[in-house]
Amino acid sequence: MVDEKERGPGGTRTRAVHSGSAPDSVTGSEGTPIHRTSGFTFPTLHEMTETFSGRGGRYIYSRFDNPSLRESEQKLLSLEGAPAGAGSVVFSSGMAALTASLMAVLSSGDHLIAQEEIYGGTTGLLGRVLPRCGVGFDFVGVDDLARPERLLSTGRPTTRALLLESPCNPTMRVVDLRAVTRVARQRGWVVLIDNTIASPIHQKPLQHGCDIIIHSATKYLAGHDDLTAGFAVASGDLLSKIRQLRIDLGGCLDPSVAWLLARSMKTLALRVAAQADNALAVATHLEKHPRVARVHYPGLPSHPDHAIAARQMTGFGSMLAFDLADGIDAARFVELLRMIRLVPTFGGLATTVTVPAASSHFGLTRESRLRMGVGDGMIRLSAGIEETADIISDLDFALV
Ligand code: PLP
Repeated sequence: MVDEKERGPGGTRTRAVHSGSAPDSVTGSEGTPIHRTSGFTFPTLHEMTETFSGRGGRYIYSRFDNPSLRESEQKLLSLEGAPAGAGSVVFSSGMAALTASLMAVLSSGDHLIAQEEIYGGTTGLLGRVLPRCGVGFDFVGVDDLARPERLLSTGRPTTRALLLESPCNPTMRVVDLRAVTRVARQRGWVVLIDNTIASPIHQKPLQHGCDIIIHSATKYLAGHDDLTAGFAVASGDLLSKIRQLRIDLGGCLDPSVAWLLARSMKTLALRVAAQADNALAVATHLEKHPRVARVHYPGLPSHPDHAIAARQMTGFGSMLAFDLADGIDAARFVELLRMIRLVPTFGGLATTVTVPAASSHFGLTRESRLRMGVGDGMIRLSAGIEETADIISDLDFALV
């Protein structure tokens, strides 16, 4: 696994607490103020004119930008280990961040290659929206992404970008980012990656050659199942375009929610470490369970991408999936759980489960769902921070 110092100056936990968080320069308040305003005042008309012509450097209007967004943006940038010149842009949801990122790269007549095993909402966005914008796309499965000739042959002269999600939901397959970005570089394709499931604690895709990182901050970054937000991280021209698209499309985050997000991100490293420990313990336990046919967790040596994950990630994530053995009904299993709740999201403090066939992959045909390895009896589990023994005991109770 990638060696990363978790403590010490500049360590992950330190950056989660301190990056972007400074006492207020006016009042000295240690807690960050919330700038609950829609507009900002100008002392003179001259300063207003200067600002509107891009020279003033003042805030204008909260749909454009608001100082309360800075804290979470700085934290993410620091946690992603982004180089100088990179910037992060917070949005009202992961989908808003993804939409702006795609629009920053693609125009009418362009073509996109997307990994087949991506979040169902992303598949929906591609299918429903891109064709109306005159953008074509093709899917490539995770196994074909590993075959350069297969990936290159899917490209067209109009291909501009490659969209990845790794680890991906719910089979937790992992893409070899260095290998794939090397191929994309040959053709000048921009590589976008949804890094939601790993979180920046377990994977830093800019360091593996990706150009744009997207997060649903609704999940681990917020971590308490109480808000919706998203991020895009990029550099240079792409970053400027994404910032402008937040203004143009209106996917701005409310200042109070941005404050809550930054507050929650201070504990990200602690939460993800505890969740990942629980995920590994649950995966190891279920792999030996007679009523479980298969466990999908990249931290298990039996996972097809364990070696890639061990090389590229700084942890194996906090989500796993498992296939119930033949004859065990998914509906009965989830109803028997006493502590663990059935929820179609992940990343919170409490352990939750969902049945992908009935939630994230509901819109797909059974055939394409099975091709992605998502069977009727697959359960996806998001590990929380509870005592490991309590999670395992609840699962054992329902696996009767
Ligand atoms: N990416 C992944 C991997 C997701 O699971 C989700 C939502 O479940 C999204 C993106 C979309 O994020 P949001 O719901 O914050 O718009």
